[in-house]
Amino acid sequence: MKFCSNCGNGDLEYIIPEGDHKHRYYCPNCDTIHYQNPRIIAGCVPMYEGKVLLAKRAIEPRYGFWNLPAGFLENGESPEDGALRELFEETGAKGEVNRLHTVFSLPNFNQVYLLFLVDLTSEEYEATTSESLEVRFFELDEIPWKEIAFESSTFALESYIASPSKEKVNLGQFVKY
Ligand SMILES: [Zn+2]
Repeated sequence: MKFCSNCGNGDLEYIIPEGDHKHRYYCPNCDTIHYQNPRIIAGCVPMYEGKVLLAKRAIEPRYGFWNLPAGFLENGESPEDGALRELFEETGAKGEVNRLHTVFSLPNFNQVYLLFLVDLTSEEYEATTSESLEVRFFELDEIPWKEIAFESSTFALESYIASPSKEKVNLGQFVKY
């Protein structure tokens, strides 16, 4: 952090505030402590009659790789709504949230994925969108594992295949050493 987002001061201190246990950016000009916390990514495993809908990324990172629909949660939005919004933006498909399927953490990237199991309400989707080069259904035994964009998607898909009807939430994480 270089500038105070509150007053614009460029002379920030990096201190452990009194009573705290971690370093924080502190602006002495406006007396603001800037807490930085992980970002939430909401997404889904969109299913229709045993098939999963994947989208090939038209944006970096991992351009051209297949992924579950997912994106950063907006302020004022529930994770469930965020998951359905990302589903529609990336694939043009609509569905209903069945349940929370996976919580996947990336502590080194300061991200937490909340991936929901979504039952698509119809087989309709857009073959391409502004965020996806290609959208299509895959049978579970034809998922292109080597072309999946992120660990979070691989984990969620593997967890689903291992136990599609399991009620328990799958907890996973990717730690970069
Ligand atoms: Zn300030």
